[in-house]
Amino acid sequence: MTRPNDPADDRVVVVGGGLSGIATALGAALHGRSATVFEAAGLLGGAAAYSGGQVWVGASHVAAREGIEDDLDRAERYVRDIARRHPELLDDQAMRRWLATAPEAIRYWEQAGAVSWTVIRGLADYHAEADGALASGRYLTSRPFQGSALGPWRARLRVSPYFRTGTTYEDMFARGRRGTTTAGPPGGDVLTLGAGLVAQFLARALREEGVEIQLQARVTELLRDSAGQVVGARAETAAGPVERFGPVVLATSSFDWNPALVRDLLGLSPEDFGSLAPDSVRGDGIMLARAVGGAVARIPATCVPMVPGWRLPDGTVANGPEYAMPHAMIVDGSGRRFCNDSYWVDLVPRALDPADRHLPFFLVVDEQHHRKYGLGSVPPGAEYPAGLMTTAPTLRELGRALGVDGQQLEATAARFSEHAERGEDPDFGRGSIGFVNQFSGDPAHRPNPVLGPVSEPPFHGLRLLLVGTGIGCSGVHADADGHVLDESGAVIPRLYAVGSCAATTTFGSGYNSGMALSRGLTLAYLVAAELGGYLPESHGSAGDPRLVQMADGQEGGHHLSRLLHGQLVRRHDEVIQAGVARIGAVQPVGVCDPRTISPVHQAHRRGLVEPAVLLHPAVPGRPRCHHPHMNRARMPGQDDRADPPQDDPAGGSGELPERGLRRQPELVLVVEIDTRHLQAEQRLGLGRADQQPERERLSELVAGLRRGDGHRQLFGHRGRDGPVHEGHVQLTG
Ligand SMILES: Cc1cc2nc3c(=O)[nH]c(=O)nc-3n(C[C@H](O)[C@H](O)[C@H](O)COP(=O)(O)OP(=O)(O)OC[C@H]3O[C@@H](n4cnc5c(N)ncnc54)[C@H](O)[C@@H]3O)c2cc1C
Repeated sequence: MTRPNDPADDRVVVVGGGLSGIATALGAALHGRSATVFEAAGLLGGAAAYSGGQVWVGASHVAAREGIEDDLDRAERYVRDIARRHPELLDDQAMRRWLATAPEAIRYWEQAGAVSWTVIRGLADYHAEADGALASGRYLTSRPFQGSALGPWRARLRVSPYFRTGTTYEDMFARGRRGTTTAGPPGGDVLTLGAGLVAQFLARALREEGVEIQLQARVTELLRDSAGQVVGARAETAAGPVERFGPVVLATSSFDWNPALVRDLLGLSPEDFGSLAPDSVRGDGIMLARAVGGAVARIPATCVPMVPGWRLPDGTVANGPEYAMPHAMIVDGSGRRFCNDSYWVDLVPRALDPADRHLPFFLVVDEQHHRKYGLGSVPPGAEYPAGLMTTAPTLRELGRALGVDGQQLEATAARFSEHAERGEDPDFGRGSIGFVNQFSGDPAHRPNPVLGPVSEPPFHGLRLLLVGTGIGCSGVHADADGHVLDESGAVIPRLYAVGSCAATTTFGSGYNSGMALSRGLTLAYLVAAELGGYLPESHGSAGDPRLVQMADGQEGGHHLSRLLHGQLVRRHDEVIQAGVARIGAVQPVGVCDPRTISPVHQAHRRGLVEPAVLLHPAVPGRPRCHHPHMNRARMPGQDDRADPPQDDPAGGSGELPERGLRRQPELVLVVEIDTRHLQAEQRLGLGRADQQPERERLSELVAGLRRGDGHRQLFGHRGRDGPVHEGHVQLTG
């Protein structure tokens, strides 16, 4: 297939309109690129809109402004500690990139007006015992948001069936999560938790002219050029196929609704697995990536966040905190408990332990549980609908009806109840996990919010499923920056993965609630920055004069950008391997084509080159780029007074400064090529037809270098609106 020559078609093509996809499109637009979001469903928001909206970030500015002390080192110790079961699954670089970039990303999104953050106070990290754990301060969520602000798009946003609309964590902790779901219908249209978070990003994205959103547009194919390179995507819509061209970002979440992938990657059959995610989350990202050579990284099912849920008589799946509330326990077919049954983190690895599986397993509650809490849509004390629960006057009879050893069930309940009265579980530690007690328990129940005897007849039980939440853990193999990798570990050019469609090698075998959305927003930030040409602060120390932010995508610079992109970036791995020792970028005045930073960025990230080399002095008095996450690098002698004000500390104005950037004609690029590997250029000779002049120019340059025409070659290019751009290629080695 051929690609249109019109550069306007070079947009960012985002596959999936959940949180990560919307954020990526927004980020790209804020960096001056157009973006199309293809969303397969009729509603936006994906699993993120169904979620609790918890975003786990260490050492965030939000925690700091709320007076909570944390630091990145501590957060890293925590992540390492909880991932220690399988250190081989942890991609160290991805983990560190995420941890270091997440605080910057969430600050950026707030300053962009895409969200207003608050700390979920009093919610502890899952593993209080782990090195670096914090009792409160790492879970962020968005402040409540008025749904009406979305205008007509409000009707196109998912709202969670698992949390009552408008519920805040303050409510939840005061009344208990179950208490909020059984409360009456909400007044008004205040959006909170996951729906509120997505709504804020969506509202902000809708203000960007460059963002196009297509609903009911399932991407079924990635488009490639004659060289096999990804150049866009095709979606199926009611009106026929729609194609968009540009780099593609997969944001399709996990594979919950693809039984073949569930069987392959989790080893679970439909009898034992269900999902809380929307049914449009069906592993398309994996299939699309695979079709162009993308690899899948596997994480064992024993590490995957899945919660106990149950199938309703109509076949749908439900879940709630009821299994973790007092007067409930979980047993396997032998009638024994096998885990801390209030805590999926303990339940999943034990239930799926290949050496000692505990499938199927069952929820058993007593009449106190029924009376106080009900189940799902069944209010406290109301009759369970036919086919939902099995009820019996004794535990022995209940066991028989469920296919569980009833005699053992009685013995299990007796021991459980004796200790539960005292708020203890010496066998499995139920009641000892702060997160569970706070998020799932009954705050009114004493002495422990998740422990109460299972002793009052009649008894009720049902078979449980493991229920996915749009975090498959296995997924598209991507590197620390969201580049999709092939089986050999090489980057597939122009293909990215953000959010939960990317395998969670970032956390390895450890997971803490909030990490999915945190990583989604961080990868969205990184990928959008790269596509927009920015170098996030976390990629270099602010003020380091070797790393200078490039900014603004303006027409003049595009020629040089294309030159570098066409010839170098598209094949950057090959180039780097082939010997481009250093690709430097010099931006003394801060405004030039954004994409030109990418060679520096890419090479630097891989640790294969030195950071960008800066050779050019600043030009005092020139307007500098102003951007919230711009490196505050100063060239020697640069006049800071010329700077416009930096970050808006109040945040949320929504007017990103880069919108106001003026066209700045001058640009200097430094490309250092290791002469020992000049043959690299020949292998690069790709370039699009419309880039012929640039390609020739680069060829001439390299040829000149080969001939030994001086150590340095200068070249220039006159942009459409006149300014002269300069670059030079410099020899090293
Ligand atoms: C009840 C619940 C509570 C949760 N709570 C939390 C929490 O508090 N914190 C946390 O971090 N995580 C939580 N999660 C998990 C989290 O919501 C998901 O991991 C996250 O939403 C994934 O975000 P995403 O942007 O990758 O994908 P999603 O938000 O799921 O969006 C993916 C989108 O891609 C679309 N799509 C799929 N295939 C295609 C295609 N071929 N073409 C076009 N579009 C396509 C889908 O329709 C969907 O809209 C929770 C999940 C659930 C279900």
